[in-house]
Amino acid sequence: MINFSADADLHEWEYNYITSPPPCPFCNECAGDCVHVLLNIDKNANVCLSGWLYDLKMKEKIKFDISALIQEGHTPAISSKALQDLWQTAVDSFDPVYGIMNWDYISYYDLLDEHFKELCVIAYRYFSPEWGLDKKTVYDIYFAEKPEETIETFHHYIMDGLKMH
Ligand SMILES: [Zn+2]
Repeated sequence: MINFSADADLHEWEYNYITSPPPCPFCNECAGDCVHVLLNIDKNANVCLSGWLYDLKMKEKIKFDISALIQEGHTPAISSKALQDLWQTAVDSFDPVYGIMNWDYISYYDLLDEHFKELCVIAYRYFSPEWGLDKKTVYDIYFAEKPEETIETFHHYIMDGLKMH
């Protein structure tokens, strides 16, 4: 779970019960699909709506790096549950012939929550009501000034965690 900063809490209140995400803190765009969106996710369904991490290509290199560790027979000492789950899913599903694996998206996004402050990512939670139902859909959106660099650093954190013995 994200520990929101005071600013983010203010945004949570301010944007409660509207369906669009907060404006981008870097370019003020309001549709949730500008170049600074790292991830825009429906938390109820765990469905990614937009952002750089929506793109499978962004994960090709880290999957390759993880497959190399698996093939080395590496056994990491992992302290984070999300990282352990990401690793275990990859190990259990790894196909050495094709070099492919299943990707545990929920744990991957949980890892973004674990690291978002060190990555200088600005995260907001916003909501939309489900009409006729006494509940609302929860969305989290993450903005970064330089998303490609941020993803590279994020993936370094993951690989550093996996290389621990
Ligand atoms: Zn923007």
